[in-house]
Amino acid sequence: MSDAVTPYLRPGSTLGVLGGGQLGRMFAQTAQRMGYFTAVLDPDADSPAGRVSHHHVHADYTDVAGLARLAGLAEAITTEFENVPAPSLEHLAAARPVAPGAAAVAIAQDRIREKAHFIRCGVACAPHAVIETAAQLDAVADELLPGILKTARLGYDGKGQQRVATRAQLAAAWEATGGVPCVLEKLLPLDFECSVIVARGHDGQMVHLPPQRNLHRDGILAVTEVHPDNMPAALAERAIASTRSIAEGLAYVGVLCVEYFVLADGAMVVNEMAPRPHNSGHWSMDASDVSQFELQVRTLAGLPLTAPRQHSPALMLNLLGDLWFEDGDDAMPTEPPWADVLALPGTHLHLYGKTAARRGRKMGHLNITGADIATVRATADFAAAVLGLPIPLSE
Ligand code: ATP
Ligand code: MG
Repeated sequence: MSDAVTPYLRPGSTLGVLGGGQLGRMFAQTAQRMGYFTAVLDPDADSPAGRVSHHHVHADYTDVAGLARLAGLAEAITTEFENVPAPSLEHLAAARPVAPGAAAVAIAQDRIREKAHFIRCGVACAPHAVIETAAQLDAVADELLPGILKTARLGYDGKGQQRVATRAQLAAAWEATGGVPCVLEKLLPLDFECSVIVARGHDGQMVHLPPQRNLHRDGILAVTEVHPDNMPAALAERAIASTRSIAEGLAYVGVLCVEYFVLADGAMVVNEMAPRPHNSGHWSMDASDVSQFELQVRTLAGLPLTAPRQHSPALMLNLLGDLWFEDGDDAMPTEPPWADVLALPGTHLHLYGKTAARRGRKMGHLNITGADIATVRATADFAAAVLGLPIPLSE
């Protein structure tokens, strides 16, 4: 195949990303490893991605002049942040290739449209009701309680969610949102949670990473485990097939993560999707021959997609800002004992260069690899003990 028939953005070109968080940083670092220049748009002068990028446009996501500067610097543009206003993506798309596209991002930003898309693709979601009006609130079926009221837009890490057991609590919770569009989801008995990451190219070619088993604490991802026995094979296959059909249905270009609930009775329902690399895919940086960020670079640059091969069982521990604080003392952050963690074979530390630690803030992650999952888990237990994270790590 000659370059003449397969156009792609050559190394030496500049790739742009909207959003300067850790996902943008790892995208930029990966793009740079592959010979690209990078440009980041983020209003924060100290953003994790801005600090490592060749170009940093300090502007708000809706600032037309800032968007024009980004489009002037970058030959193709992606996003690391799903709450980028879709009109900003459309604006950029008039000047440059943008992946994922505004239409797919707009669906992922809105739980109501997202659930409708899942159903259209034949993938079951949790029983739910849309609440946009007082009449819809009154019409909610009793069997949806107890449930979780989720704002349709702008939720992340469990923010924008309220658990409700009675109709009175539901009404109060909706009022507390200010009456914004919401979804009430039935509270399901979860056995475990998992996610699948796919990458789809402009030509429709699609590859996936192996399904990830995820443990959340307080609504935030805490642990991801990836190895061939992390879930029954039939469930893994179903999760992969469902994710592929969700991406296909969006005519998606880029990296997409879809999260699932596996219920106590073995049924699987889709929870939500993220139109970007995902926290649950960070293990791929050390245990897969192609990481989720390389997939993002490849889809954006129009490079071929080859099936990623996991070469080691993997476990990822999220490192939240809480680790910087002794119990009850929020005044004096102290750096966790990294040298003690890195003394353990198979540990790979990723820190995002955030200047201030705060409770609940994602500061980094620790990937752990090893010859087999028992070794990996034993190392993870040691690392957790050194860091003061709760043990046991898995349910
Ligand atoms: P993020 O985008 O960071 O993943 P989010 O704020 O969008 O989080 P969800 O993924 O909807 O929130 O929910 C966060 C967590 O709350 C889930 O991972 C799950 O542990 C729990 N949860 C959410 N919905 C339900 C449900 N219907 N039944 C039981 N548990 C749920
Ligand atoms: Mg989630």
